[in-house]
Formats: sequence, structure tokens, C-alpha cells
Amino acid sequence: MVRLPGYQAAQDWLFRALTASRRIAEATGAEAGLVTAGAAAGLTLGAAAILTGYDLGRMERLPNCDGFPHELIMAREQRNGYDHAVRAAGARLVEVGFHEPIAGAGVRRVEAWEYASAIGPLTAGIVYVYGPHSRPALAEVVAVAREHGLSVLVDAAGELPPRANLREIVATGADLVAFSGGKAIRGPQATGLLCGRRELVGAAALQMLDMDDHFDLWEPPDNLFDRTRLAGLPRHGIGRGMKVSKEQIVALLTALRLFNEGAYDRELAVFRSYLERVAAALEWEGTPARGRLVVPADGESLPVLEIGLDEAGLGRSALDVCRRLRHGSPPVYVGHGRLDEGKLVINPLHLNEARTTVLIRRLVEELCP
Ligand SMILES: *Cc1c(COP(=O)(O)O)cnc(C)c1O
Repeated sequence: MVRLPGYQAAQDWLFRALTASRRIAEATGAEAGLVTAGAAAGLTLGAAAILTGYDLGRMERLPNCDGFPHELIMAREQRNGYDHAVRAAGARLVEVGFHEPIAGAGVRRVEAWEYASAIGPLTAGIVYVYGPHSRPALAEVVAVAREHGLSVLVDAAGELPPRANLREIVATGADLVAFSGGKAIRGPQATGLLCGRRELVGAAALQMLDMDDHFDLWEPPDNLFDRTRLAGLPRHGIGRGMKVSKEQIVALLTALRLFNEGAYDRELAVFRSYLERVAAALEWEGTPARGRLVVPADGESLPVLEIGLDEAGLGRSALDVCRRLRHGSPPVYVGHGRLDEGKLVINPLHLNEARTTVLIRRLVEELCP
């Protein structure tokens, strides 16, 4: 890429960001979009945007929020390690509701009225983690927020595919939605998308950009920021360390186009055949393990192979097998989300013919000691 002097480089970046905003808007149905340094950075920037709007003084003070509303309401059952990214902006999370089925203490989960009843003078908005099993439905939470003039920030980092989620989550009326670019979109690992209302996306972008300019000379594209609403130029914001390069922007937009066109769908049958080979080999070799192929019906999601181990017969736990696979040659990393059920999970995304052969060899070595 051509190296440009500082000012031109910043201007060039802004025009690429404008293209990105338009493309993300087309793909999601949102008013605007921003390429972020992963969904986690999108959550920090999104929370910052909700806390500050276009208020320059608030932008300058983050993550210190003394004197202005900074509470974000979140279901207790949705709290997770990624909400650190929301707290990093300065927000304080206010938890609501219970997950009584998990507690073994009832049948109810968090309910919409619980969000409403937690709203007070310090409330700035609501954070919602989107998933097929999330309750109550996002639309109900958005309705509560609307009634009280609050914004909803949605973590949908891993909720693609299905492709339809690109549009359906935004269509609920959620104000900001963060997706990961390095997961199923298959963009650069350290990218993500933040899409939603133009004003909030603009406030997020302002807190990520290099701000070393004179306000009188600063000429961002109109569609990115409403310059007339800014009292001046903010200084480097809380997201300055989360900037993305124009190379990342271009690469993510390309990946987003491929993902959205369904370009990855035709690989599913090939991935499935790799997993079938693994399952057949385990059986053929007489291992104390059985593979079960799980093929999602949506025609977009990857099949996976769940390998159930006879831990007693093997004399080894699934955790031990997982560790030995990692320490072997070559190191093999299998899905470790269901080890406590005695299962290894094989996600085929990085398999090819040669790697499938190696994977089979290593599994058989560990399962037929
Ligand atoms: C993966 C994930 C993130 C972080 O996404 P990055 O793009 O890696 O920053 C955030 N939230 C959830 C629920 C995730 O699954």
C-alpha cells in the first residue's frame, strides 16, 4: 500500500470508513456501521457511545463517569467474561433477574418487567447478549428501552451464521449490535462490526479515531458524523488503542461480502466428508470412542463431530485426552466445551485432506494406548 503523510492518511482512512459504513449498512439494514478491532472492541466503543453521545466533555473523561448516567442494565444470567469490554468504557453493570431452572429452584428466567423496574436516574442503557436461547426476546427488551428513551447494546459476536441474523437482530430496533469479524465471517482475526443508529456509530468512531487535527480543517464525510452537532474536536478517546487499519477494513468488507453471498456454504459437504472419515476410522480401529455427526439444518452452519469417550474403559478422562492431544506431535486442539460430559468436539473449519489424516492418526494413538 502507498504510504501517505499523516494528514492524508487520516483523511484516506475516513473515506474508507465511510465506504465501510455504507457496506455494513447494506448488509445489516442498520443506518451506519464501523469496523472495530473485534466484537469486544465494538462493545467497549458501543458502551462509550451510549455513555457520551456527542458530549465532548464526557468523551474526555471516560472511563470516569462521575456526574452523568453510566449504569447499563444486564440480565444476571447473561453476565459473562466479555462484559469486561463493556465495563472498560466506565459503565457500571446493574444486574437483574434470575435463571431459576439452572439454579434448580424454579421455572422462570429473567423477565422484561425486571429490566423496567431497574431503571433509575443513573441508567444509561441496556446490554443484551443475543443467542438462540436468550430470554426474554430482544424485541421485548428493546420495547422497554424505547419506553424510557434508553439505548440497547447487543453482543451478537458469535451469532453468525445464520446470515439472516445480520439483519434480524438490527430489525428488532436494537440501537447498536456488535458482531465478530474473525469468527464465521472469516475476516481478519482482530476485526469486528459495530452497526446501528448513525449518531451512536458516529460517537463510537469519534472515540476510536486519531484526533490530531484542527477542528477548522477537519472535514469528515457528512455521512459519518454530523459535524454541525459537535462543539469542537474531541481529543483521543477511550478507543484510541483499538484503531483498525485500512487493510483490516478492506479485508473485513471482502469477507463480509463472501459470507453474505453464501460463498462458504458449498464447503459444508467437504467438511462433512472429513468428519465422516474421522468417525469411520474410530469405529474401524475399535477405539473406545463413538463419533456422532451433528449437522445443523440451516444449510449454513458447520457440521461438528462429537466424540463420546468411554472414560472408564480408556482409563483416562476426556480432559486428559485433550491435554495429550495438545502436547503431541503435531499439537492438535479439539473442541473442549463438553469435556465434562466425556466428549471431544471436532470443528472442521481448519481441516483439509492431509490434516484429517493426521487428526485420525493422533486420535487413534491416544484412544488405543
Ligand atoms: C467471541 C465473543 C466475543 C469477542 O469477539 P472478538 O471478535 O474476538 O472480540 C464477545 N462476545 C461473545 C459472546 C463472543 O462469543
